[in-house]
Amino acid sequence: MPTTDSIISRAARVLFSNYARFPVVLTKGRDCRVYDPEGRAYLDFVAGIAVTSLGHCHPKVTVAIQKQAQRLVHTSNLFYTLPQVELAEALTAASFADRVFFCNSGAEANEAAIKLVRKAMGPERFEIITVRGSFHGRTLNTMAATGQDKVKAGFEPLPPGFVHVPFDDPDAVAATVGPTTAAVLVEPVLGEGGVRLPAPGYLKALRELCDRAGILLVLDEIQTGVGRLGTLFAYEQDGITPDAVTLAKGLGNGFPIGALLARAPLARALGPGTHGTTFGGGPLACAAALAVVRALREDPWILENTLRMGERLKGGLEALARRFPAIREVRGRGLLVGCELDRPARPLVEACLAQGLLLSLAGEQVVRFSPPLTVRDADVDEGLALFEKALGKGS
Ligand SMILES: *Cc1c(COP(=O)(O)O)cnc(C)c1O
Repeated sequence: MPTTDSIISRAARVLFSNYARFPVVLTKGRDCRVYDPEGRAYLDFVAGIAVTSLGHCHPKVTVAIQKQAQRLVHTSNLFYTLPQVELAEALTAASFADRVFFCNSGAEANEAAIKLVRKAMGPERFEIITVRGSFHGRTLNTMAATGQDKVKAGFEPLPPGFVHVPFDDPDAVAATVGPTTAAVLVEPVLGEGGVRLPAPGYLKALRELCDRAGILLVLDEIQTGVGRLGTLFAYEQDGITPDAVTLAKGLGNGFPIGALLARAPLARALGPGTHGTTFGGGPLACAAALAVVRALREDPWILENTLRMGERLKGGLEALARRFPAIREVRGRGLLVGCELDRPARPLVEACLAQGLLLSLAGEQVVRFSPPLTVRDADVDEGLALFEKALGKGS
């Protein structure tokens, strides 16, 4: 096995430099641990950015991929496959939706949602309201929908049709809705934008507002969905029904897949020939995602554990916040937890790495904890201990 250093120096000669990667090479993973070429173990509280929610190489997902790989890997959407139908059945049985469109990523799911909104609402009502601090993807449209200037810098002109309002401010949405408004697109909790939670009743207020205005409410649950916040979908906790939901990250436990969920009357707007993808909803991806959705539905322990471990993690971080003034705030729901500092967070994340703990950033000053939903008490306690050590060295 080539060494970490040799792989990183080869990477610099052949890869685009569009990622600010950490100087770590990973070769294998199991549950919430990953390993580098030198055999060093890391406790993984990134989980591929809230993706490998059942832990690395979960046996049920691995077997589902292996079995499907022996049978049929790709067909295109010119034909039907059973895994795609079964996954759509599982997702509709578990949600408000009764129709699903499959694609390969989060950005693609949001692109599909944007196209659905445009087609359904007609040429006069084309504008989509999103919030400042939001993140919806890196394609031109999803980047235009994203409420962060740093994501867009240098890519102008951006596609028109998006307006941004402050986060957690239904009045600002109400004041912005006009005759050209088609939809409101929001994340139930801002993920990339710093793990920011709205006040209770936010989604309910948006739902009422959209109903009054006759416009659509689209939820970007790419990060919050598939159990991350302790329920299969985040919207369940708000007692509302959205018009459309996008999923991706946790859906395939690492196998790339995205989905757009809606009810049949709205879904009909995307008729034959209006939208599509060669790879989307392929048998391998659907077999992997089906194993994930089945695990979450058949084993209630996973979601219970998500809520319990989320509280344990937040409690531990709050205790650290009382001792380390560099920690400004701890917030989160389920196992999406943010720790906001009074300074840039990257040095602390790097110090954690040196301790053997993988964490990610959600904005400049926020450390994000998004471990697998299957972490145990001992893993959370170990993560907190390593985080404390890193804090002690830095601040
Ligand atoms: C990650 C993310 C996306 C983009 O997903 P990709 O698979 O990277 O295209 C969109 N919206 C939210 C909320 C996300 O967290």
